[in-house]
Amino acid sequence: MDLSPFPRIRLARLPTPIEALPRLSARLGSLRLFVKRDDETGLGLGGNKLRKLEFLLGEAQALGADTVLTVGALQSNHARQTAAACARLGLDCELILRRSTHATPPYLANGNALLDRLFGACLTIVDAAASREEAMTARADALRAEGRRPYCIPVGGSNGLGNLGYAACAEEILAQSALLGIDFASVVVATGSGGTQGGLLAGLYASGATLPVIGVAVEGTRAEQEALVAQQADLALARIGPGSGLPRARVRVIDSQVGAGYARPTPAMREAVHLAASLEGLVLDPVYTGKAFAGLIELARSGRFTPDQSMLFLHSGGSPGLFAYPESV
Ligand SMILES: *Cc1c(COP(=O)(O)O)cnc(C)c1O
Repeated sequence: MDLSPFPRIRLARLPTPIEALPRLSARLGSLRLFVKRDDETGLGLGGNKLRKLEFLLGEAQALGADTVLTVGALQSNHARQTAAACARLGLDCELILRRSTHATPPYLANGNALLDRLFGACLTIVDAAASREEAMTARADALRAEGRRPYCIPVGGSNGLGNLGYAACAEEILAQSALLGIDFASVVVATGSGGTQGGLLAGLYASGATLPVIGVAVEGTRAEQEALVAQQADLALARIGPGSGLPRARVRVIDSQVGAGYARPTPAMREAVHLAASLEGLVLDPVYTGKAFAGLIELARSGRFTPDQSMLFLHSGGSPGLFAYPESV
């Protein structure tokens, strides 16, 4: 896999470490558990989106952009990492964020929203019914009419280019697994806009590796999310080859942790957040990684893994969200 043709700006502190979780493994009793610390990519409190932004902002800079626009939920980790990267690169940043209807006060002012403002981004808050994408396109047109050079990033930074960040992460995991002498049985990761899981699958496939990646959906149904992840994997493969697309059987998503929907707390998420924090000092978030880890616990308890199998939980970040949803955990 040759990523050298794609302009890339180094933003994340890489490689992120892989650490053992002995006390969680003992508690779950049926597997050897490891965590890949993509919550510790550094810039702006870190998270998975920085890997995608290395390629997306590489293109923005190559095109001479002066303003970066993106969309997300009001507590979007992607928006926060975009704002931090723009601060570092001296680019203007405009965020179009959707307010959720069940939000309570810390949600509007704390967590990611607080950091967005500190990083100097301009926030436009739209309500749930409005199309964020249309608002972004209209704003980009207005900026262009003023002689500015806008660059638009889709939700979650997921597209063929952004997903290359996770194709590169797949190579990183394969190299670390060889170095550590650990043959992981599976990777478990939260899946939302689909580019993290899709990029990982694309990178593994392009590298000839068969390591399974299980996505834990935080919204939507299994069928919807699998279609989205397959599409995101294919968008990445269209850039790096093989152009044939990912074999569909490799896309595996579970949807048993969604609960009432995006950012809605569940008892299993709470248990996962408390177990990781109290047994390992590992901070998960209520929206993504708490539900993803709950999915891993569900798989472990179902007897899916044998005690000698090693599992890799990809911690995708999101801890600032804890301070926006204190009542959720
Ligand atoms: C965005 C995000 C995800 C999901 O990644 P996608 O590429 O959108 O599927 C998972 N965890 C956290 C913390 C995130 O911010």
